[in-house]
Amino acid sequence: MNRGPLLHADADAFFASVVLRSRPQLAALPVAVVAHVIIASANYPARARGVRSGVLTQEALLQCPELILVDVPRGEVEEAGDALLDLFRDCARAVEPGSMEEAFLDVGARSTEEAVAAGREVRRRAAAELRIPVSVGVGRTKLMAKLASRAAKPDGLHVIGPGREAELRAGLPLRDVWGVGARTVERLESLGITGLSGLDDIPYDTLRRLCGTAMARRLRAIREGSDDAVVRPVEHRSTLSSEGSTKGYERPDWTPAELAAMCVERVCRRAERAGLLASGLTLTTRPDDEGPARVLKGKQPVPTASPQVWSAVVRSLLARADPSPLAGLRVTLTALVPVDRVQNTLF
Ligand SMILES: [Mg+2]
Repeated sequence: MNRGPLLHADADAFFASVVLRSRPQLAALPVAVVAHVIIASANYPARARGVRSGVLTQEALLQCPELILVDVPRGEVEEAGDALLDLFRDCARAVEPGSMEEAFLDVGARSTEEAVAAGREVRRRAAAELRIPVSVGVGRTKLMAKLASRAAKPDGLHVIGPGREAELRAGLPLRDVWGVGARTVERLESLGITGLSGLDDIPYDTLRRLCGTAMARRLRAIREGSDDAVVRPVEHRSTLSSEGSTKGYERPDWTPAELAAMCVERVCRRAERAGLLASGLTLTTRPDDEGPARVLKGKQPVPTASPQVWSAVVRSLLARADPSPLAGLRVTLTALVPVDRVQNTLF
């Protein structure tokens, strides 16, 4: 098992970076990508003018009237995410994805120098082959690597060496500790604890009563520096999703049937490229009135990535769905298996 430093690789302003690949003339201007009416991602010139993701488009325009708004190119974003994960897998001996655009990498580095060289190569290849800026953090544990990649942004590489860890842990605000939820932070703040070092002042039993055993153990480990340093690879993906909104910013609106058909096409194409077949499909619909999402499931007796087969399944699920207007939907292929494994059992 590797005990050398590990990497956290994270694409910068991912959705915006994907859009800018085909519109490089916009790169120096403030650009934001819109999902429905929310800013999903803003490039760095837009961030410099105060635009943040998660805010309403109208608010962002008040903040920055010259902001250029572009619809999320969903299909392109999902395929870029697949390509990025493939590239990470090519550069590392184990990859643990965190989301579609970030992952922990075990590159087998025995020293900081080796980890840095591997990190540079990941960044070089992502820029050259995918035209996506990726920042890389190097650290001894996942938390340190993640803090390093955050410090590396935008478009950089940052190392948190073992020598800096103790000082960093002592000064780390709880809000910056990845994996510690807002509720836990609030509870600890009610005791006047805002940073990791504050944990030294309360007995472990108090911590356990306040946050539960698992979180108390985790916090203690982070404080002591014995937190998670193991990259857990995913053998193959067990689900693939494609999603979209019915309403566009610049484009015409889509009917739920049109959107569902497009999502099925995209997700089947991605499954086929990855050499995976599915025997289940989940359709998640998001109603227009902010009500709860609805989940409908379909199955196929023989695993397949055929868009014709899954389109028919989605049409029948949509026919059963609540007829109230939809804001968006997601199609997920489930129970994915590699195509060669299926062929071996069928023939
Ligand atoms: Mg990112």
